[in-house]
Amino acid sequence: MAAERIFSREDESQILASIESWLEKEVRPVTKKYEQADEYPHDLVEQMKELGLFGLTIPEAYGGMGLPPTTYAKIVTAIAEVFMSIGGIINSHLMLGTLIHRFGTEAQKDHFLPKLATGELRGALCLTEPDAGTDLQGIKTHAKRDGDHYVLNGSKMWITNGMYGSLYAVLTKTDPHAKPAHKGMTMFLAERGPGFTVDRKLKKLGYRSVESVGLSFNDFRISADRVLGGEEGHGFQHAVGGLELGRINIAARGVGIANAALQDSIRYSQQRKTFGKPICEHQAIQLKLGEMATRVEAARLLTEQAAVKYERGERCDMEAGMAKLFASECALFCSQEAMRIHGGYGYSAEFDIERYYRDAPLMCIGEGTNEIQRIVIAKSLVKRFPI
Ligand SMILES: Cc1cc2nc3c(=O)[nH]c(=O)nc-3n(C[C@H](O)[C@H](O)[C@H](O)COP(=O)(O)OP(=O)(O)OC[C@H]3O[C@@H](n4cnc5c(N)ncnc54)[C@H](O)[C@@H]3O)c2cc1C
Repeated sequence: MAAERIFSREDESQILASIESWLEKEVRPVTKKYEQADEYPHDLVEQMKELGLFGLTIPEAYGGMGLPPTTYAKIVTAIAEVFMSIGGIINSHLMLGTLIHRFGTEAQKDHFLPKLATGELRGALCLTEPDAGTDLQGIKTHAKRDGDHYVLNGSKMWITNGMYGSLYAVLTKTDPHAKPAHKGMTMFLAERGPGFTVDRKLKKLGYRSVESVGLSFNDFRISADRVLGGEEGHGFQHAVGGLELGRINIAARGVGIANAALQDSIRYSQQRKTFGKPICEHQAIQLKLGEMATRVEAARLLTEQAAVKYERGERCDMEAGMAKLFASECALFCSQEAMRIHGGYGYSAEFDIERYYRDAPLMCIGEGTNEIQRIVIAKSLVKRFPI
C-alpha cells in the first residue's frame, strides 16, 4: 500500500476554504427549502461526490483524501454551521469507512473502500433497535450460520442514511447465549436484498432532510465473507471501536451549531434597536453574547484536543466524551440564547435560529447520551487516578 501523504497547515486551509466556499455558494441558499420540506438533497449529494466529501477520511491508497481527524473535525464544524443535516449524510458513511479500514479483511478493504470514497456506495451504521440503544448488548437481531451464509432476523431503528444508503454495518447476535453477551456479537457488511426491508422513514423534530429509518431483516441471507474482519464474535468491539471518532464528530457538529447561533446573534444584536440603541448595547444582551462566545471557544478547544489525541493514536475516550458532552450542551445553550436575543424573530421559520434550536438536542443523544458521557468520564477518571 502506498505511504500516506503528510498534510500541512496550507493543505488544510485550502481544503477548508474550498468547502466553505461551496457551503456559502451552493448550500446556504437552499438549506431552508430542503430542511423545511424535509426533502433529501439529491443535488447536493451529487456535488458532495464531486468535492470528494465521501472520501474525506478514507486513505488515499483506496481513493479517498486521507485527511487527518483534526482536519475532518474542522470540516464537520464548517458544514454544521451551515446545514447540520448534510453532515449526517457523510458522517455515518465515514464512520463505516473507518470501521472497514480498521477492522476489515484485506478483501473487504479492497472491495468496499474505493466505492465508499467516491460515494458510489453510501454507508449506514445499524446498531440501535426498537428496544435497545444505550444498552447495545441487549439487541435482539440475530444471525444464524447456514453453510457459507448467515440468516439474519430482527429490526433496527433510527438508522441514518437508511433509505438512500447502500452499505449497512449491521450489529447482530451470533451467539445469544454467550457470557459475557458482547462475545456473541458480530457485525455484518450488508447490501440490500430479499428479506432486507426499509420499513418507514421516522418523523423528527430536527435533523431533517437526512432520513432516519426503521429497517427489518426477515430471513435475510448474507454471505459469510461479509462478517466484518472475517471472524464472528467481535461485533461489540467493532461498534465501540468507532465511538471515539463518533464522539469527536458529534462534538464538532455541536461547535458548528453553537457558533452559527452565536454569529447570527452578534449580527442581529447590532441591527435590532430598542429604546434608541442597538440591543448589543444593552447589558442583558452583552451577558448572553459573552457567555455564548466563551462556551463556543471552550467547546472548540475540547474538540480539537480530543481530535489531536485521536490523531496521535492515543487513548481519548475521556477527552472525546468531554468534548461531546460540553459541545452538545453548548449547542443547546447557544441555540436557546440566540432565540431569546432574536425575540419573536427567533421563533420565525424565516430565520435559522429555530432550526438550530431543533437540531441541537440530537447532539445530546447521538453517539452515547450525555448521561452516559458523564459516566464514561467518571469511570476513566477513577481508572486513571487509582488510590
Ligand atoms: C435522529 C437520530 C439519528 C440516529 N442515527 C442512528 C444511526 O444512524 N445508527 C444507530 O445505530 N443509531 C442511531 N440513532 C440512535 C441513537 O444512537 C440512540 O437513540 C441513542 O443511543 C440512545 O438510545 P435510546 O434512544 O434507545 O435511549 P435509551 O438507551 O433507552 O435511554 C433512555 C434514557 O435513559 C438513559 N440511560 C440509559 N442507560 C443508562 C445508564 N446505564 N445510566 C444512566 N442513564 C442511562 C439515557 O441517557 C436516556 O436518557 C439515532 C437517533 C436519532 C434520534
